[in-house]
Amino acid sequence: MGIATTNPATGEVLQTFESLSDRDLDTKIAHAQQTFLSYRAVPRVQKAVWLNRAAEILETERDRFGKLMTLEMGKPLKAAIAEVEKCASVCRYYAENASHLLADVSVQTDASHSFIRYQPLGIILAVMPWNFPFWQVFRFAAPALMAGNVGLLKHASNVPQSALAIEEILHRAGFPTGAFQTLLVGADKVAAIVADDRVKAATLTGSEPAGMSLAATAGKHLKKVVLELGGSDPFIVMPSADLETAVSTAVTARMINNGQSCIAAKRFILADAIADDFIDRLLDKYRALKIGDPLLPDTDIGPLATPGILNDLDQQVKTSVQQGAKLLIGGEPLHDRPGNFYPPTILSEIPVGCLAEHDEFFGPVALLFRVPDIDAAIQRANNSPFGLGASAWTTDLKERDRFIEEIESGSVFINSMVKSDVRLPFGGIKRSGYGRELGKEGIHEFVNIKTIWEK
Ligand code: NAP
Repeated sequence: MGIATTNPATGEVLQTFESLSDRDLDTKIAHAQQTFLSYRAVPRVQKAVWLNRAAEILETERDRFGKLMTLEMGKPLKAAIAEVEKCASVCRYYAENASHLLADVSVQTDASHSFIRYQPLGIILAVMPWNFPFWQVFRFAAPALMAGNVGLLKHASNVPQSALAIEEILHRAGFPTGAFQTLLVGADKVAAIVADDRVKAATLTGSEPAGMSLAATAGKHLKKVVLELGGSDPFIVMPSADLETAVSTAVTARMINNGQSCIAAKRFILADAIADDFIDRLLDKYRALKIGDPLLPDTDIGPLATPGILNDLDQQVKTSVQQGAKLLIGGEPLHDRPGNFYPPTILSEIPVGCLAEHDEFFGPVALLFRVPDIDAAIQRANNSPFGLGASAWTTDLKERDRFIEEIESGSVFINSMVKSDVRLPFGGIKRSGYGRELGKEGIHEFVNIKTIWEK
């Protein structure tokens, strides 16, 4: 795939870009390395000034950046603007909190003084997806830059203007140009960048194949990696739940970003006692969703980001129906208009062995499963290759404790949808990846945890 902006609502190619030559790529890596040598020593208060300035730019120009994202990948404009605001908040949070997250930690031993110091590693490569074109990058960049690392961004090939805008924001904010650079290159260049001696670590958010490929190269060259991969998060509703709130949240949790979020609720696991009621209400809310031009303020669902994603989703739904799943609503791409539009869709009565049991559906498709009790609910939730997030709805404290303890995932949200929070670690287990972003655990991923021991 070439590097280009194609409006997913119309199919119109808005702008194309040349990939960097190997020579230009080398120049940028050299610039990053040279910058790191001085940037690491810049006082953290100065870095915080720059990051707060980046937050100001984001807030002041939220409409422009929001529109850019909508034109590149199709999310509703109001969601894109909210994403820009969230990026400002991650900048402000790490500007304010990095110093204490990275402060020396004393540990009493037989030394006269022993402690831990956190030092930057150097150049970190960030390989990022298109679905949250600003947020995914800022949640990496804000902590990494505060820790004294420098970043190279290889963004998804369909969001080059977002990638360039982020670089511009950080430079205008005052960061040295070598502290953060966008590399307009395709996925075929990633292995060579990871292998480069000057690059010390990498983080990738994206699909399993991309994660495996990057991890294999990084393993060969003994480089640290953080992987944020796919998910098929369960959304469990027990009889004691506040049903109306659960159903409303279920719609938001499934439809966020036109259904293309790693932590979207994808498998709805419903206790028999409330399942019929839940499904009736869900269908009502699905019918009320407005699908259309993502630039219009009352649009709930825009197009999928690319024709390939539309095609994959269509095939997954059709195969699931052939394998015995029951289609309750939707199920056919909207052929009456240009663009990659797919309607809100619900599959139920998914038989054992159907691909809907285990595949990630990256679009507005809800997969319904009925269970008789909590044992079956937990078993169904864990019956997935993924382990990113989980949402469980109950007011029974014993059930709550079992969900917290027994669900195999990187996070469990009780009576809420799964969401990322700048203050909390984010990441998965199983095939959803490893390592964490955000929080103390996230900022510590890309530092040398240096032990100091004085006699
Ligand atoms: P993708 O194809 O893996 O693309 C993600 C990034 O990886 C892009 O920059 C892409 O570049 C690059 N890439 C692709 N193949 C690569 C390879 N073999 N080696 C190195 N880099 C490679 O992902 P996607 O399908 O666009 O994104 C959706 C997936 O991301 C879903 O599975 C979703 O759940 C996951 N995701 C996870 C999180 C999380 O935090 N866990 C967040 C968001 C999304 P090109 O664009 O140039 O191909």
